[in-house]
Amino acid sequence: LTDEMKEALPIIEALRQSGHEAVFVGGAVRDAVLGLPIHDVDIATSALPEHTMALFPKCIPTGLQHGTVTVMQKGVPYEVTTYRVESQYEGHRKPKEVVFVQRLDEDLLRRDFTMNAMAIQMSGELYDPYQGERDLREKRLRCVGDAGARFQEDALRMVRAVRFLSAYELAPAMSVWRGLKKHGALLRHVAMERVQAELDKMLGSRSPGRACIWLASSGLLAFWKEPLPEKILNQVNEALRKARAGSESAMPDFSLLANVDERWAALLLAISCGGSEANDILSALRFSNKRSTFILQLIACQEKMESAGHLSDHDSIQLKRSWTEAVLRFGEQTARHWLTVAGSLPETRGSLPKSTAIYLESVLDEMPVKALKKLAAGGSDLQKHLGLPPGPWLSGMLNRLLLAVALGEAANEKDKLLALAKIWSEEDQSHE
Ligand code: ATP
Ligand code: MG
Repeated sequence: LTDEMKEALPIIEALRQSGHEAVFVGGAVRDAVLGLPIHDVDIATSALPEHTMALFPKCIPTGLQHGTVTVMQKGVPYEVTTYRVESQYEGHRKPKEVVFVQRLDEDLLRRDFTMNAMAIQMSGELYDPYQGERDLREKRLRCVGDAGARFQEDALRMVRAVRFLSAYELAPAMSVWRGLKKHGALLRHVAMERVQAELDKMLGSRSPGRACIWLASSGLLAFWKEPLPEKILNQVNEALRKARAGSESAMPDFSLLANVDERWAALLLAISCGGSEANDILSALRFSNKRSTFILQLIACQEKMESAGHLSDHDSIQLKRSWTEAVLRFGEQTARHWLTVAGSLPETRGSLPKSTAIYLESVLDEMPVKALKKLAAGGSDLQKHLGLPPGPWLSGMLNRLLLAVALGEAANEKDKLLALAKIWSEEDQSHE
């Protein structure tokens, strides 16, 4: 038993004392067998959800119709799910019916892959009726039962297959590979939210590059419910084909990126997506507004900096100017994230040389103002001083002052800024 499992033992003991079976299941068992760090400890039990609820004062009925109750213990949530079987899958995505059962081996039989269909008893003993441990040892991904049938029941399992292949460096069993090739098109029935959740896990894993390559070689990318435009699909496949051929660094160096949304931005840039293509992909994948805005800003920042050219020329005034504009437009935080993203890009895709990154970072650190709210003169000061009615000129003028201060060309003092604004405004009028 791992330490995380020992922590959860009181839950198992309580269930057993009231006459039920209870064991550890799922990803935690798989990772424990592999000696890897454990994430969530999940428990399966013969107890019905109402029995589980009655036993634990602190619990949340997370998904009662599927038999899942979340039990809180010392602030840690544990999913406790009643042994169940699923039947009559509807539309290749979800079971019509969930039936609670009394036997663990039946519950394990419904699970997708042999390595996900093992259980650990409270004694620490492994229960592994479908030889998951052997498959793991032989580095093979195998379905519980017939792969084709399992993929037809729930097509998302094909995306999960790709995730597990890459995350655990496995090879697909012949039946799994055939199933992927034969049933890929069924992915069209699966909600994009579910696909996104799996892709997110892939990109967040230790081996996003490998996951991308498996995705492309399995052909699954062609079958999204919300299809990718042909052009993007070709771009993706081209980039991944190069990466697969080992052509050095067709993919970003994901190991430099801790944040999953930085990884999304780097991936989209590496496959040559511009802002609008990236937007199409992110909205097809149902990204939240907040996440897609952030990712798109990173891409916009890259486009802006690339268009300034001279990413390796420190003396370029244009570089400093573009960077300052970018910081003011996208905000300091996003700008710092971009530095990381740009540093991870493949050379062919506008990678930022380390020395330039250090230079830009120091420019950022020393920038006298980084946002409008830090400017010594505000909108109403300006309006009063110039005696003009409010209008679009106002934000234009504020941003111009802001840029001048940020570049160190004007001091951030109210009187000086107002005087400068006056001069500019008179100049503008004489030009009209
Ligand atoms: P991770 O460590 O990434 O969470 P996991 O194996 O725990 O991986 P989950 O999605 O958390 O994956 O699912 C928990 C368990 O539920 C799996 O190990 C598997 O036994 C079962 N499972 C999940 N999704 C499916 C599915 N689509 N079909 C069959 N079984 C599934
Ligand atoms: Mg899990």
